[in-house]
Amino acid sequence: MERLRELLTGLMCSRVYRTEPHHRRDQPWYYNQVVIGIAPAGPHRLLTLVQELERLGGRARERELRFGPRPLDIDILLYGSLVLHAADLYVPHPRMHRRPFVLEPLLEIAPHWNDPRTGVPWRLYLP
Ligand code: AMP
Repeated sequence: MERLRELLTGLMCSRVYRTEPHHRRDQPWYYNQVVIGIAPAGPHRLLTLVQELERLGGRARERELRFGPRPLDIDILLYGSLVLHAADLYVPHPRMHRRPFVLEPLLEIAPHWNDPRTGVPWRLYLP
């Protein structure tokens, strides 16, 4: 979080949610958290910076199993109301609407936000 404060100003943080692993159950539970802040960096630069942070946090993709444990995984869920489909970056994050472990912490700190693609409130995606 300290390093994230170097990338985002005015940081707002959800609580930390402990969630059960989905695809591989033989791993510890996850700790999920959503943060909102103002990013001086553009979306691609921000992706590079958060990937650097993941590496600092001990992440080594080449040693990972798909859906397996990882020390730190930072996704860009939203970037204002931007809709972006680039080779290395999709915004909004393409799977966030299907993930209660993303939506619940997001709605805790941004209860009235909508999907910028459709205007649908994020809360309506929760089961
Ligand atoms: P992960 O293993 O979940 O950290 O996936 C990271 C990969 O997803 C990277 O290669 C990114 O280029 C790509 N990616 C696409 N969209 C996003 C996004 N919104 N946030 C983070 N990574 C993304």
